[in-house]
Amino acid sequence: MTDAAPPAARVLVVEDDRELGPLLLRLFRGAGYSADLAPDGQAGLHLALTRPYDAMILDRGLPAIEGLDLLGRLRRSGVTVPALVLTALGTVSDRVAGLDGGAEDYLVKPFEIDELLARVRVLLRRRSPSEEQLAVGGAAFDLIARTVTGPDGSVVALSGRESDLLRLLARNPARAFSREEIRDQVFPDSAGVALVDTYVHYLRRKLGTTAISTVRGVGYRLGRG
Ligand code: CA
Repeated sequence: MTDAAPPAARVLVVEDDRELGPLLLRLFRGAGYSADLAPDGQAGLHLALTRPYDAMILDRGLPAIEGLDLLGRLRRSGVTVPALVLTALGTVSDRVAGLDGGAEDYLVKPFEIDELLARVRVLLRRRSPSEEQLAVGGAAFDLIARTVTGPDGSVVALSGRESDLLRLLARNPARAFSREEIRDQVFPDSAGVALVDTYVHYLRRKLGTTAISTVRGVGYRLGRG
């Protein structure tokens, strides 16, 4: 079935329209995606900086932070997740501004749902190798295979939770995450933060103690402290 989303592909929808936003959320979830909805630019910025997504759908006219401004901030922060910009502004100069602003694609409202889904599938197929592979020290972390290949060619297999935790840190290598943030992203069903420490311990045991550093008073980040 060619219409199916890749397994567990994660989509962020940033849309303030009270009808269209929830509609898109239901649409993506119904198509097999894991999807989150941010109702304004600030919420979108927070989600995109803290959660791993495979594609983003951004409205242009948004409260708090305008869509292209949001995209620019994300690109400057190193977020390379492919983005499709949705807008009521359909002039050539608006399209050019969107594409120049870091969007991979651009769709003018009103649009057909089937076309939106098709374009998102293209975005997901176009994910660059760097989106499927992240650097962890001198090693390469393959997000799809959930393996870490060392410079010497040694391969370490990760569990799903280990992979989710490492992906969060590796996608934001300059950032320290609090244990609560990591819990919210990786262990959302867990009440405490003990699992975070447990899984950091597992990853250090598999990848070496310098793979993840403890940031005093904050939490954890990728690499040496
Ligand atoms: Ca809007």
